[in-house]
Amino acid sequence: MNVEKSVVAITGAGQGLGRSMAVYLAQRGARLALLDLNQERLDESVAACEAAGAEARSYVVDVSREEAVDHCFEAITADFGTLDVLVNNAGIMRDGMLLKVKDGKVTDRMSLAQWQSVIDVNLTGVFLCTRAAAGIMAEKGSGGVIINISSVSRAGNMGQTNYSASKAGVATMTVTWAKELARYGVRVAAIAPGFIGTEMVAQMRPEILESLVKQVPLRRIGEPEEIASTVSFIIENDYLTGRVVEIDGGARM
Ligand code: NAP
Repeated sequence: MNVEKSVVAITGAGQGLGRSMAVYLAQRGARLALLDLNQERLDESVAACEAAGAEARSYVVDVSREEAVDHCFEAITADFGTLDVLVNNAGIMRDGMLLKVKDGKVTDRMSLAQWQSVIDVNLTGVFLCTRAAAGIMAEKGSGGVIINISSVSRAGNMGQTNYSASKAGVATMTVTWAKELARYGVRVAAIAPGFIGTEMVAQMRPEILESLVKQVPLRRIGEPEEIASTVSFIIENDYLTGRVVEIDGGARM
């Protein structure tokens, strides 16, 4: 599929990797539907895409809410006339150890709310958005591409029971959907980024950043454009489906 003129929906597009993907694809002629929780940040992303000469619209939606998601994808189809690509990028972290034990006594536990909030957005959100988008793609009959953002943490990472489980689930759903949706001409792939320099990283203490970089064989954090260009590559490579592309500088959990 050509990026040029394709209608691409990106969740979590108000900042970070989502905004970077939006601008990268806008510069290559895509038409953008940008989804996020915050209207002001979406406005900034829309303006950045328009500055690159692209058509872009914003949709305020919580990806974990069934009705809101279905309604949002109906609106996107009404506004753009079609939907070719979905990037499931929205995601949150609520880190914590499963247990903390001091002097032989459990002093803290990951709360159910901590667990559930991450599962709701990172796993249920991806399920709901993909179900809505894949339905549109299957009905229009000209196929499509779905790209899920997993993480290197899917292998299991200390302090991230909830996040690692959600990102492993995303990788597994990718394979399942690639098998189920191929008959409708829909390809499904995932990207598992390592440590990428978004706003979050800019706020980190230098010593923490340094210790993280030491664990990366390429000895640097990734650039958001290195994830955005992978999204573009997946859209354009018609023989790629059911696979997780690892963009992590060689880092392994
Ligand atoms: P980010 O800067 O926090 O951006 C995520 C965006 O998603 C935010 O604008 C956030 O809005 C939005 N969002 C959160 N919950 C939502 C919901 N329920 N409905 C709609 N939008 C929602 O994160 P990022 O670093 O760009 O990461 C993007 C994706 O890449 C995530 O899935 C993340 O897990 C994954 N990833 C990132 C890295 C990295 O190093 N950056 C590495 C591996 C994987 P609010 O800010 O208002 O919550």
